[in-house]
Amino acid sequence: MFDWLIVGAGFAGSVLAERLASQRGERVLVIDKRPHIGGNAYDRYDDAGILIHQYGPHIFHTNSQAIFDYLSKFTRWRPYEHRVLADVDGMLVPIPINLDTVNRLFALNLTSEELATWFAARAEKRDEIRTSEDVVVSAVGRELYEKFFKGYTRKQWGVDPSQLDKSVTARVPTRIDRDDRYFTDSFQYMPEGGYTRLFERMLAHPNIRVMLQTSFQDIRKEIAFRRVIYTGPIDEFFKFRFGKLPYRSLQFKHETFDQQWLQPVAVVNYPQTEAYTRITEYKHLTGQSHEKTSVTYEFPSDAGDPYYPVPRAENMELYKKYERLALAQENVWFVGRLATYRYYNMDQVVGQALATFRRICHEVPLPEVAGLPQVAAE
Ligand SMILES: Cc1cc2nc3c(=O)[nH]c(=O)nc-3n(C[C@H](O)[C@H](O)[C@H](O)COP(=O)(O)OP(=O)(O)OC[C@H]3O[C@@H](n4cnc5c(N)ncnc54)[C@H](O)[C@@H]3O)c2cc1C
Repeated sequence: MFDWLIVGAGFAGSVLAERLASQRGERVLVIDKRPHIGGNAYDRYDDAGILIHQYGPHIFHTNSQAIFDYLSKFTRWRPYEHRVLADVDGMLVPIPINLDTVNRLFALNLTSEELATWFAARAEKRDEIRTSEDVVVSAVGRELYEKFFKGYTRKQWGVDPSQLDKSVTARVPTRIDRDDRYFTDSFQYMPEGGYTRLFERMLAHPNIRVMLQTSFQDIRKEIAFRRVIYTGPIDEFFKFRFGKLPYRSLQFKHETFDQQWLQPVAVVNYPQTEAYTRITEYKHLTGQSHEKTSVTYEFPSDAGDPYYPVPRAENMELYKKYERLALAQENVWFVGRLATYRYYNMDQVVGQALATFRRICHEVPLPEVAGLPQVAAE
């Protein structure tokens, strides 16, 4: 008899398993339908012995001291600031667009102040910023929008940016200085031994049992448990009662080259050419020394594992219908990216899981467990 069944061994499921087991002394069964822990953050050594991310590059960044401190219980860190170049008009230039991007692309020698005026002269006025196209065109004008965003976003999402919520491109800022970091968060690190190692440490508690290649549907009726934490797709939990929530998927092509480096930074974007959106070269992220190099190409598609909730108003309405069912469900907590149908970064999912744990501590009385301290919520 387990106190909790946790569906999904990604960040949402693993953080909650660790908290419930270590802080409340409860017995937790974690299941995942995949053959590994870590969810989408799973990394592994490939045939050449190079550490790669199975589901595309995962870069940890956060502004939260509390989330950083929590994860630091399970890993040491390697400082890493992410930089991305875009292949535009045959040149590799920084993205987010900054002073160097514009000067190199247009053979100019602008200062930051001049660049602000340059953007203002090209920006198209919008009364209301609604779509992903509005966000970019109203900040830097149509030409840069078409070079950097239009093709990339169409490839990534399968629809024109004018049909997508503003949140998608609002994630990528525009800068007038020379800062070429992709993120500006106060904590930017990679886990020193990799993500899978971090998850192994998180789940290495005697009260936690992990069963892989086991889906919720398989064991729903077979194993006794009191409460459920569900981190899979919310529509699947309710057997698609109102229809399927749309997701964008990716196909990953992993490749090893017999040379030390392929590209100057970890990620190169391809907004104008190629069927793939970007190439990631992992040694830049991990700091690993190796005579060969391994990379991943990402091909967006409609079919495949659910990765990105498609941010459109009608999809949010459909999600709200499922959310109402979820709120009425007793003894089931819906946590994580798929269960709340939101584009969350890893730190946000960790934050959501820690907040859920605090809520559980308020709502669910502690069990009587002989020999284990009854620790209240942190
Ligand atoms: C290509 C890509 C790149 C990303 N890059 C970054 C990045 O650089 N930085 C960052 O912070 N975030 C990044 N993210 C986001 C990050 O992956 C998520 O925030 C995080 O993995 C979410 O954790 P989760 O536990 O909610 O979901 P997941 O990691 O998806 O875990 C859910 C788990 O539940 C399992 N599951 C689902 N349904 C069932 C079922 N019915 N039965 C059993 N198991 C089930 C799944 O197999 C999965 O392992 C990226 C995401 C993608 C797709």
